[in-house]
Amino acid sequence: MKDRALRSAVITIPRLERVPFLKHGFGNRHWRDRDFKRSGDWDGFHPVFLKQIHSDIVHFIDGMPQPGLRGDALVTRLPGLLLVIKTADCLPVLLVDEKKRVVAAVHCGWKGTRLRVLEKTVKSMSDRYSVDPATILAALGPCIGAGCYEVGEDVLNLYAEAAFPASLLRPAPGRPGKHLLDLRAAARLQLSGLGVKEKNIFSIDVCTHCDPDYPSYRRDGKGCGRLLSFIGIIPV
Ligand SMILES: [Zn+2]
Repeated sequence: MKDRALRSAVITIPRLERVPFLKHGFGNRHWRDRDFKRSGDWDGFHPVFLKQIHSDIVHFIDGMPQPGLRGDALVTRLPGLLLVIKTADCLPVLLVDEKKRVVAAVHCGWKGTRLRVLEKTVKSMSDRYSVDPATILAALGPCIGAGCYEVGEDVLNLYAEAAFPASLLRPAPGRPGKHLLDLRAAARLQLSGLGVKEKNIFSIDVCTHCDPDYPSYRRDGKGCGRLLSFIGIIPV
């Protein structure tokens, strides 16, 4: 694809666009791994991919990581690294602290959310780099919407055990034993609980399951492709 077409395959958050040292975005189905190399925009950035395992493992990237890194959250303050999360219905979350110049990318599916991977990422940003959650900007990308994300009793019970409020799961209309999980609300809950301000949480309210421009595992199965979300500090 040409640069112009590539740019339209990526959604950004205006408030994050205004952070002078930041590059970020959420790709749609037309944005692929190789586009990071093709588009001139990415000159100087080294993309960092994870082997995502639906865990609560947070990696701090202080240098060029080895390939095959396993986990579900990446944090760095090194310029020139582009942290990449791949999803297909799960929720990608990008975080930036303007003051301390720390960025993070987090993969939040139902399993990682149950383990509070987002909460752990924000806490570890505070512990390691003295980031104040009150100054964090958070961007929630496209994911499967609360109206489409049907789960069973097992998930309902696991969330109750993990002390999540019952409001995150509502009964699926006309589907006994099925519930609808709100991944976005679960993310907001974790962020607000740690002191991230409501006004600093931005959300792209697209349902990947409903919008054919986005990959959806639930809709299209294994071959659906992946939505690439990325964030990085512009190299100096
Ligand atoms: Zn939907």
